[in-house]
Amino acid sequence: MENIKRPYLIAGPCSVESHEQLLNVSKALCAIPNVQLIRAGVWKPRTRPGGFEGLGEQALQWMRQIADSPLRMADGAPVNYCCEVARPEHVELCLQYGISHVWIGARTTVNPFMVEEICQSLRGTGISVMVKNPASPDLGLWIGAIERLMQSGITDIKAIHRGFTTYNPRTLPQSNGPHYRNQPLWEIPISLHREMPDIPILCDPSHIGGSRELVAPLCLAAMLIDFDGLMIEVHPDPATAWTDANQQITPDALVRIVGGLNLQQPAGTPDAEHQLAPLRDSIDTIDHQLVGLLAERMELSRKIADIKRQCHMPVFQSQRWQSVLHDRLVQATAIGLDASFMRELLEKIHAESVRVQLEGQSST
Ligand code: PEP
Ligand code: MN
Repeated sequence: MENIKRPYLIAGPCSVESHEQLLNVSKALCAIPNVQLIRAGVWKPRTRPGGFEGLGEQALQWMRQIADSPLRMADGAPVNYCCEVARPEHVELCLQYGISHVWIGARTTVNPFMVEEICQSLRGTGISVMVKNPASPDLGLWIGAIERLMQSGITDIKAIHRGFTTYNPRTLPQSNGPHYRNQPLWEIPISLHREMPDIPILCDPSHIGGSRELVAPLCLAAMLIDFDGLMIEVHPDPATAWTDANQQITPDALVRIVGGLNLQQPAGTPDAEHQLAPLRDSIDTIDHQLVGLLAERMELSRKIADIKRQCHMPVFQSQRWQSVLHDRLVQATAIGLDASFMRELLEKIHAESVRVQLEGQSST
């Protein structure tokens, strides 16, 4: 039995720039067996005015021409394009030019009014729709947009994880890790999968990474987390691209990256299961110990709260907390634990301890 996972692969330029550029990249992508759909931006959401905003209907005309030409995708199907829609007029034009797959962009998913308007225009069309995560790290908005699409009768819905905007990511502590354009926050797409297990999730490493070098490692991470597919920005000459020049890759690079992914099915082999079993047992034991220790620690917080209350001391004592944090971070980093992970964990534990102590104060 075949044990290979084949990701659903969408590739293509950030934006359609000319007939020649679209035709060149389409020809190159049609020669790559894994590519199932070609992305090509028609309307571009620009953060600030003055930039290239997409060619609109002209781009759709070229897409139609190429789709009607003898060119075929690697599997023999006619060339199949998808693009972002942000307004009902975009949906209408896509329908007019026979575009069968569209996506809702990150700046639209944040706005339920806009999502609702687009859903109304999609009703009854049978179009396939992908929903990028909202720019802000808000799982509810992502789920909400998918639910609105379901309510309008769209049945082929996929989610696209493209990372989340944070204020000036370059200043965020990433423990020597890569500087992402948009933070991956993998726990959010993982939570989406938990909430909506039937919705396939694709990863967009181009907009997460923001640079060519990060595309390959992000694709690998997405496959390791068992995403269903990838949407990758590919341009015949990335350095000259009119939008997102830093993150687009050549068709040759795409072939190398996809070829380099180890696409073994995550089910593993009986031998792997056999080796994993005792390690998983140990992890279960340690997790149970951690839970027990946390309960003990919170019990101590309650006792401390009683003493503080009797002695009229404040619950939060900054100096004590700073020295606890410093001490644990020194210990943790000395034995190889990641400093920012440890800081986050300790801050969470401390916040819960403060909450428990305040609860003790107010219950009297
Ligand atoms: C894009 O795919 O080119 C794009 C603008 O995406 P996002 O909505 O993720 O920013
Ligand atoms: Mn782009």
